[in-house]
Amino acid sequence: MDQTTQHAPYAPLETVRAEIARAAAIAGHDAAEIALVAVSKTHEAPAIRPLLAAGQRVFGENRVQEAAAKWPALREEYAGIALHLVGSLQSNKAEEAAAFFDCIHSLDRPKLVSALARAFDKVGRQVPCFVQVDVGEEPQKGGCPVAELPALLAAARAAEVPVVGLMCVPPAGIEPAPFFAFLDKLAADHGLSGRSMGMSGDFATAIMLGATHVRVGTALFGARG
Ligand SMILES: *Cc1c(COP(=O)(O)O)cnc(C)c1O
Repeated sequence: MDQTTQHAPYAPLETVRAEIARAAAIAGHDAAEIALVAVSKTHEAPAIRPLLAAGQRVFGENRVQEAAAKWPALREEYAGIALHLVGSLQSNKAEEAAAFFDCIHSLDRPKLVSALARAFDKVGRQVPCFVQVDVGEEPQKGGCPVAELPALLAAARAAEVPVVGLMCVPPAGIEPAPFFAFLDKLAADHGLSGRSMGMSGDFATAIMLGATHVRVGTALFGARG
């Protein structure tokens, strides 16, 4: 099957796309420029195929191992799939991640900059990265402390690791908008165009505040088991 095949509509995807379009229109942004990353972690191929059949091609996973087990077969069935790593990455898995993923949303420390720089050299491809920022001061979630962001970006530049934007996961249970607005400003201050922010519960808000990439799981796949 390829992109020229007729798409079979899939209601949750249509709903999410309509919400993206609505939020983008309110904010005066072009909906076509907002990437929907369908976060398929924990879901197996039978749950993923309806999205592929409906034309979705960008997917997010949070574990290198799980993604490597389930995506090679789907990549043979459907052309043009892009896989984004949205979960934290251990340095010792940098090479596998560099070979497998098309975008990494979780660059958050100097050690990972050097591991990825080596991995990109070794596998012969440069994978675009978002720097994950710990906007809520929750170190257990990963993310670079705000105060250390300039140094991390400088290290990435020096190592020629391509940084395309900033990413955040705001604290659960409180209003996320101030965190999205903060990430948007941080990205602008550093001259970065990408903002990976917004999940099932808040992607419309994130888009109104400048998201270029929204990472949506539950709203597309239902609750994870
Ligand atoms: C799981 C996950 C998502 C998707 O969350 P939902 O609430 O299911 O949409 C987004 N971003 C990251 C980093 C995740 O781990």
